[in-house]
Amino acid sequence: MELLQTNAELATWRSLHAPPFLVPTMGALHDGHASLIRKASEAAVAAATPAPCIVSIFVNPTQFNDPKDLARYPRTLDSDLAMCRAAGAAAVYAPTADEIYPQGQAIETPPLPPVAFLPSLEDGHRPGHFAGVAQVVLRLFRLIDPCAALFGEKDWQQLQLVTALAAAHHPSTAIIPCHTIREPDGLAMSSRNRFLSPSDRVRALSLSRALSVAQCEHSPDAAESAMRRVLEEGGAQTEYAVIRDARTLTRPREHDAPPPAWRALIAARVGSVRLIDNAPWQSV
Ligand code: AMP
Repeated sequence: MELLQTNAELATWRSLHAPPFLVPTMGALHDGHASLIRKASEAAVAAATPAPCIVSIFVNPTQFNDPKDLARYPRTLDSDLAMCRAAGAAAVYAPTADEIYPQGQAIETPPLPPVAFLPSLEDGHRPGHFAGVAQVVLRLFRLIDPCAALFGEKDWQQLQLVTALAAAHHPSTAIIPCHTIREPDGLAMSSRNRFLSPSDRVRALSLSRALSVAQCEHSPDAAESAMRRVLEEGGAQTEYAVIRDARTLTRPREHDAPPPAWRALIAARVGSVRLIDNAPWQSV
């Protein structure tokens, strides 16, 4: 496996290979990331024109709206490289910020699709976050020009955003969604879980519990109330706990036809850690 740290190294590597399968990450890799890398590596081998799998590791400063969150984001390159190698990656691109955002060059921010601007979801709590995500994703797509990029359903709203962005601005890259990988007790794996104290680790289970309790409710309103109750009783502070159209992430009005698929989405704080999770939902 090759480690590429500059755009010049990346360009040389790219000139020798077919358009790769890309797994974009911010590092601090866990088994959720490994599942994406394994899936990309398998797809890469099985492709009509065999292609390599490349993982990007870059803690993107422009998507953090809290400087303290950026400063404490875990950076674990050595163990990340071992995990990428074990999961079958052919290369890791781990650039500095100057490679991604060269000094003196304006950072391109594409027009964002409506799914980025829903005040009751991420945008209401992390304003500017999705502009940063769009910046880095498009930059990576332009530098790497992958045939496909794999993203986790764990970040459901981000997945909808990236799917719309790629269709509008980089249609040669297909977006492949990947299921959320969980700990045996249900907690969705996240690089931030390592910051949970033992008691907060127990409280954090209220997110996956709330998503399963919501499955027993017959209406979006009842499901939302049930999720908020479970989160509150479990000691998590709810930012949002909502049932939405799975694609547009809007809430259909009372007389609208139900959407083809619903999604339950949660963001909550447990101690100092902000956690998100989501699951399909359907009315029983
Ligand atoms: P991150 O490093 O947090 O930016 O995540 C990189 C990619 O891994 C994103 O596409 C995430 O959605 C995905 N991811 C993060 N956690 C999980 C998980 N538990 N299961 C599956 N994919 C995940």
